Amino acid sequence: MSDIVLVLNAGSSSVKFALIDLASNTQPLSGLAECLGTAEASISWKVLDALGKEEKQTEALPENGLHNDAIEKLVAIINENNLSDTIKVVGHRVVHGGEQFIESVLIDENVINAIQDNNKLAPLHNPANLQGIVAAYHYFPTLKQVAVFDTAFHQSLPPKAYLYALPYSLYENEGIRRYGFHGTSHSYVATQAKQWLEENKQSSSHLITAHLGNGCSICAIKDGKSVDTSMGFTPLAGICMGTRSGDIDPGLFNFLINELAYTPKSIETLLNKESGLLGISQLSNDCRALEKAKSEGNQQAQLALDIFCYHIAKTIASFTVPLGKLDALIFTGGIGENSAYIRSQVVKLLAIFSLELSEEENLNKRFGEQGCISVSDGAKVLVIPTNEELVIAQDSYRLLCGEQI
Ligand code: AMP
Repeated sequence: MSDIVLVLNAGSSSVKFALIDLASNTQPLSGLAECLGTAEASISWKVLDALGKEEKQTEALPENGLHNDAIEKLVAIINENNLSDTIKVVGHRVVHGGEQFIESVLIDENVINAIQDNNKLAPLHNPANLQGIVAAYHYFPTLKQVAVFDTAFHQSLPPKAYLYALPYSLYENEGIRRYGFHGTSHSYVATQAKQWLEENKQSSSHLITAHLGNGCSICAIKDGKSVDTSMGFTPLAGICMGTRSGDIDPGLFNFLINELAYTPKSIETLLNKESGLLGISQLSNDCRALEKAKSEGNQQAQLALDIFCYHIAKTIASFTVPLGKLDALIFTGGIGENSAYIRSQVVKLLAIFSLELSEEENLNKRFGEQGCISVSDGAKVLVIPTNEELVIAQDSYRLLCGEQI
């Protein structure tokens, strides 16, 4: 084994981790610590054995255990499996890089301070990312560390796409603007799509990527650069998601406060945790569960899925404005990679672009299979599984070797 990168994705109550062997494109170890800060804090992991088999194990972490406890246990697992010496660099997913970071960087004190400065822009995520960085420094003091930002890919947006029609001073003084998220995923699938399109002698410069998972965002990509994206100042903006509302009328805030006695905190919970597919269906935020309920005649599930597809299609159509033309539409994320139903509904709503799906290919390209699902002559429709961990590993290794990103 060689060139192994430890990838850490520290969320508010979880740490996702993977050791990625770039030479063999395998993951000798991967797992997730979750429910951190609660009595149920636990860690699950899989180790790849010499025969290529994986065995999943789960262990409780100390009650109310936090990121540090998770990483301490991770270090023990790494040592037990004699993997410690193989790790060359640690790569961290960092949600908010503000305007400072337009690409991945080697972490030093200045970078840590800058990430900390962005805490107010991403209060749920950046402090957790920093805890991951601090813990990794503690347990791997000799290793270089790299930050890969969710926002960096969207720093190419032009002002007309990133500015809100608010007093300009709010942008200048407070940094209030569209930042966009899921950048690592959009950039990865766009690169993969370009490769497929070029191999198949198709134009590849005008792409729209739809990352549809629990969080959802759409991105318009021209000549490899993000030119518009649906998430905004926060990951709450844009299309309807699992539990997030996406765009709503900002006038609603006053109504909720004045007429319904909501507080800023309860509005945050309403829009982040109780809305989206869950809010409309009153059943689940899980697309699989909703498709099943819809097929059994559940009207609310049908309505939630209809609204979801409508938002996606409307945003995709609007993103042909900055592009001027469409070479390919790319689906990714848990829903985009696996739901033939959502893909076919979205494409039907985009009839104006004369897209047509192959029913057979739409069913074939699920559960990790990638490729083209359209039969029409014009823009292609592709399914490409995302791989944010791989991008983090690749960027980290390149920076370790002193290469430009
Ligand atoms: P992610 O956040 O990318 O892991 O995606 C999670 C979402 O993908 C959930 O809404 C799942 O229900 C959805 N998903 C996963 N597999 C399928 C499937 N086979 N059909 C429909 N949705 C799926």
